[in-house]
Amino acid sequence: MPVKKTTKKATTTKVTKKGSAAKKAVDNKKAKAYESLRGMKDILPKHEGYWLDVFHKSESVARAYGYQYMQAPILEQAQLFVRSIGKGTDVVNKEMYIFEDRDGKKVALRPELTAGIARAYISNGMHNLPQPVKVWYQGPMFRHDRPQAGRYRQFHQFGCEVLGDRDPVIDAELIAVSYNTIKDLGIDAVVHINSIGSLEDRQNYLVELVGYFRSKRSYLSDESKKRVSKNPLRILDSKDGQDLEVIQDAPQIIDWLSQDSKAYFMKVLEYLDELQVPYVLVPTLVRGLDYYTDTVFELFVDSEDALSAQSALGGGGRYDGLVEQLGGRLTPAAGFSLGIERIILAMKDQKQKLGDVPAEKKPHIFFAQLGEQGRRRALSLIEQLRKSGVFVGSHLSKNSLKGQLELANKQHATHTIILGQKEVQDGTVIIRDMDSGIQEIIDQKKLEKKLKKLLEIV
Ligand code: AMP
Repeated sequence: MPVKKTTKKATTTKVTKKGSAAKKAVDNKKAKAYESLRGMKDILPKHEGYWLDVFHKSESVARAYGYQYMQAPILEQAQLFVRSIGKGTDVVNKEMYIFEDRDGKKVALRPELTAGIARAYISNGMHNLPQPVKVWYQGPMFRHDRPQAGRYRQFHQFGCEVLGDRDPVIDAELIAVSYNTIKDLGIDAVVHINSIGSLEDRQNYLVELVGYFRSKRSYLSDESKKRVSKNPLRILDSKDGQDLEVIQDAPQIIDWLSQDSKAYFMKVLEYLDELQVPYVLVPTLVRGLDYYTDTVFELFVDSEDALSAQSALGGGGRYDGLVEQLGGRLTPAAGFSLGIERIILAMKDQKQKLGDVPAEKKPHIFFAQLGEQGRRRALSLIEQLRKSGVFVGSHLSKNSLKGQLELANKQHATHTIILGQKEVQDGTVIIRDMDSGIQEIIDQKKLEKKLKKLLEIV
């Protein structure tokens, strides 16, 4: 009996709780609206023009230079990035999204794609392909950085990698691909370039550099003080005013390069001259990641503006030891990546400077339908047109002609096809010129040909 009593009590409490939850739900009928995570931005249709321009132009430049599309997963073993990018780097220490998956495996969202591509090159036996392997990619990267203009936690990169050969002409070609992509998007860029030599060159230089920073330790920023023993090269990248004076007089890596490294670097510069890519030698440029050797470079908007000068549009370099370090054969390689959000910011900036140049009016067709029969015929006609390469805008859920013509105007349609019950029965459509309002009736069989003419599809 007592058991029964307890159960009854418990049930009563539950009902009361449920009741109050239901009441609460009624009180706050409106569900909580979610925000995107900090530093993660939505890409909206109104920005489609910029994104597609970057996607298409970058792909077209990469393909023109003989690069093939490649992709590696967004999620990889965390250790892949720790080993390649380096333990002492900000990317690994502070910014990586790292977590245990449901199997207890330590995984990370890729902060960049070079390590993933190098891993995939090994996993897929790509050393058996004719060398070098030239690939390009686009996609999202993740870094838990402090968000600000041009710095996000999810951002997108376009990049190219050449694996399996070492020649200065490869470095120069990669720089030309990155530079020309930006140029084709209407941005004047300049390349900052340096050589950090071979690993041996760097070891000798590091002894000298650490000695110098130790002697100036008290003048360095707190952040840089911590880096003296952990990652002294990174201090050279510091933008802190306090550090800049110390960096100015620091020993320069270029003076520690072997004859071979120097000769290699000179060749890269000669090829860049040939390619007419403008560059500036920046002796303090070292790039943040551990895997670079020899050529390192970054691209900036060519501008007097201090802010543009601080945030790179992209960067890259040679990484001859990475594939071997990840368990593959000795495979010299080089690559770059460009930040798509930063490029779009520069494109917007450029557009503003040039004033609002009226966009060239491209022909655009809208398909308006009326009544159930019109809608059904529109469905099959639009599909038929799509198969023949004619794309039209439509909002098939709308019924009123007025509403559809308004939408056509908003989409800057040059012509609207109108299909109602009468046209379905006659096997015709009306084509309305949206500027003049003049309407023409044509046979549905002639529609494809007519639209191809209007859309200038030859
Ligand atoms: P990195 O290899 O770190 O130099 O990155 C290459 C390029 O990616 C940079 O020059 C930026 O254009 C872009 N990038 C890197 N981190 C971010 C970020 N947190 N937000 C937006 N773009 C970024």
